[in-house]
Amino acid sequence: MSRWIIIGACVWMVVLGGAGLFMVTGWEGRSAVASTAITTATPTNVAESQSQVRQTQATQQAYPGWLNIPVGCTIGRDCWVLQQFDHDPGPDFRDYACGARAYNAHKGVDFGLATDNDMRRNVPVLAAAAGRVLRLRDGETDGVAVAQGVGAVPKGRECGNAVILEHGGGWETIYCHMRRGSVAVKQGQSVAAGQQLGAIGMSGKAEFAHLHLGVRYKNNPYDPFLPGGMKPGACGSVGSLWTPAAAAALRYSPLDMVAVGISDTRPNVAGVNNGQFNSFTRRDADALFGWVLAWNTKAGDILRVDIQDPSGKALLSTTQKLDKGYRRHFRFAVKKKSGAWHSGNYTVTATIQRSGRTPVTRQISRTLKLR
Ligand SMILES: [Zn+2]
Repeated sequence: MSRWIIIGACVWMVVLGGAGLFMVTGWEGRSAVASTAITTATPTNVAESQSQVRQTQATQQAYPGWLNIPVGCTIGRDCWVLQQFDHDPGPDFRDYACGARAYNAHKGVDFGLATDNDMRRNVPVLAAAAGRVLRLRDGETDGVAVAQGVGAVPKGRECGNAVILEHGGGWETIYCHMRRGSVAVKQGQSVAAGQQLGAIGMSGKAEFAHLHLGVRYKNNPYDPFLPGGMKPGACGSVGSLWTPAAAAALRYSPLDMVAVGISDTRPNVAGVNNGQFNSFTRRDADALFGWVLAWNTKAGDILRVDIQDPSGKALLSTTQKLDKGYRRHFRFAVKKKSGAWHSGNYTVTATIQRSGRTPVTRQISRTLKLR
């Protein structure tokens, strides 16, 4: 028998002037059990690929790409573009692809980790292009916005630990929310493209572990995916500021699965963000839980969770059509004990499928060993 438990996680929205901000949530933790490989597959359908090719061609024609990926992690595997620049002039929000991966007045791009706990891996923040350090700040505590609420973040320090680079010709890039004590450059210093500036953190008004990258030209914010701004009726990246390699790696994703796990105790989203609920050590556990953390689900998405036992047999296989979507979405499925749990590897796989004009499939899996 299996059943679903749904915990909707709404999202926090923060509106700031100037460089804009982000939002957050996190975790900590070690997995008590060995062997926790994470694999992610992101199948792409043909329509998505063709549209990407068109976007890339248009990009080359309109603007020379000069920005590199500003994080030292693999996009789609251990970090994700979780929030985009908001192009809606009013109180609503719209990303460059006319999707909902933004929030009102968000004037940057957020590169997020799976959970807050992943901040402890000191994932590098990298200079997107060669430049000079105009300003910086360090010493701000990580996680204040989550622990005490966004109101507890001091005015003027919403960006947290940060570096601003100037690139000449009026262009600047700004890197926000870095981990306390991680800023690795000095004011006035010249940096090369790809040089480490610090580490991804959650200082300032950050409700999840991420880098907020802001791009400015003559003090105005620009979307690196759509620097010319959004034309009425047009969706998609035209004239991006990314290098061709970065543009290819950062192609638009409407939906992401960022973490999955198995636990022999009932999980919750706060604990998952703190690195808990990745443990299967009790042979007498009454139940086994397979959980998943996703971003930007939509009503109608089909979510499936499978757990395989050490013999490769399906222990749990459950599918559900989501009746509601969430910016951050946490769910788990339960398998009650029927006999003893055998030692060996247990693998949980979560899959989301979205149908429609541009079908999307995302899958993520993880294996834990019961000794
Ligand atoms: Zn942001």
